[in-house]
Amino acid sequence: MDSVITEKLMQLGIEPTTLPTAPRPEPTRTEYRARICVLPLPACAVCGGQGITTRVIQTTAGPRWLDLCLPDVTAVMPPSRMPATLEGILADLREVAAEVAADLGIKATLSVWTDETGWQDEQHG
Ligand SMILES: [Zn+2]
Repeated sequence: MDSVITEKLMQLGIEPTTLPTAPRPEPTRTEYRARICVLPLPACAVCGGQGITTRVIQTTAGPRWLDLCLPDVTAVMPPSRMPATLEGILADLREVAAEVAADLGIKATLSVWTDETGWQDEQHG
């Protein structure tokens, strides 16, 4: 996941190794809390505003704090792996229902309602 974040930072013109050095090997909960509870808040890595969230990313130069303001959290957030369409969501739901029915050795009925098709019952197992 750090590679996706690192790539997004590079796209934004931010060299990850220039971010503030984080404790090795991993900050404690207290260190995380202290990072976002001190005033002044650390600067957002993207816009320079107040960083109200923080995380540690691994870089070639070691762990670095990635402080972000709330709007910029989405700027470096990895893309969702969730389906983006209704058809994709329903396909995932059908797959899980079929797997559960097979694992339990039962017949299961999945009742799905959509605005387009109304109620549909699907038999699995
Ligand atoms: Zn920002």
